[in-house]
Amino acid sequence: MPIYEYYCANCRKEFEVMRPFRESDAPGKCPTCGAEVAKVPSVFASNEGYSVKVPHGPAFRGNKS
Ligand SMILES: [Zn+2]
Repeated sequence: MPIYEYYCANCRKEFEVMRPFRESDAPGKCPTCGAEVAKVPSVFASNEGYSVKVPHGPAFRGNKS
């Protein structure tokens, strides 16, 4: 089952919801404030199982100052 990412603008928090593919367009519910929020576009959107993620971290920073 794919995991979908959501972002709550109220809490400024991201959270993940695991749900069936057929419910992929349904809004997510923020676990903190209960607001319904839109899905964050992700690599999971079009192809289940294609799970390449862009790494976050020091290696990804281009500029050294
Ligand atoms: Zn919230």
